[in-house]
Amino acid sequence: MEICHTLSQMDDVRRGAGSRGQSVALAPTMGALHEGHFSLIRAAKDLADFVVVSIFVNPTQFGPGEDLEAYPRMPEQDLDACRRLGVDAVFMPSAPEMYPREPATRIELPSMADKLCGASRPGHFAGVCLVVAKLLNIVRPDVAVFGQKDYQQVTILRRMVEDLNMPHRIHTCPTVREADGLALSSRNAYLTDQQRRQASGLYAALRSTADLIGAEHPPAREAAEHLRREINRRVPDGRIDYARVVDPETLVEAEDTRGPVVLALAVHLGKARLIDNLRVD
Ligand code: AMP
Repeated sequence: MEICHTLSQMDDVRRGAGSRGQSVALAPTMGALHEGHFSLIRAAKDLADFVVVSIFVNPTQFGPGEDLEAYPRMPEQDLDACRRLGVDAVFMPSAPEMYPREPATRIELPSMADKLCGASRPGHFAGVCLVVAKLLNIVRPDVAVFGQKDYQQVTILRRMVEDLNMPHRIHTCPTVREADGLALSSRNAYLTDQQRRQASGLYAALRSTADLIGAEHPPAREAAEHLRREINRRVPDGRIDYARVVDPETLVEAEDTRGPVVLALAVHLGKARLIDNLRVD
């Protein structure tokens, strides 16, 4: 497995794959790899001949006072996992390697990025779009894989790639969950045992709302109220940031629930801000 710390090392490795006629898949991550990331890597292996995993805790997507410093970092463990999974190359640049100077470019998709997570994390998706655009330009993958866990993120990135005629395919992998339904996340490590037990209530609340929609097709506003009630009941120590029923493509609030919708939530629980979503067709 190749380990690339610099752009030029990554470029050499990319050229090598190209010269062998191999297709390339990229799985961008911030490390502290878990089964959710592993599922992306396995999908990448199915989609292309040569798999690159990037590990980079991207400072430009963290706001002031967010958990940039506290974010879990375990590079050796991550590299072992990548070796075990048969990853071909890991790109793990330093921050100065990625941002030798303050970027003057911003990629903004305000109609999609200012709502849901973007409303409470201003600038977050501009940071995500910038780093993903850079990673796509550096690694030049045929396909890049992302998790549905970060639904707003992958929806925005799909649109960015479409709007800018970027040549990469975007592949979305289903959310990997613990046995009790909690979506795997590096930030779950912030939860105490009691918070961890309550956290499974988030998925239960999503499921309960999906069941209600399946049975009654209520107006989206009523479904969203049901979702909020269920979260408050099942996760009493949680504080809802948002819990909405939105259009799967535009992310605007849905009106009715007869067509496909996405139930999306973010809840503060102790030191963690947990997000989850469920698509209901
Ligand atoms: P992160 O390291 O948290 O930035 O995540 C890197 C990628 O892994 C993103 O595309 C996430 O959506 C994806 N991911 C994180 N957690 C999960 C999960 N539980 N299931 C599926 N994909 C995930």
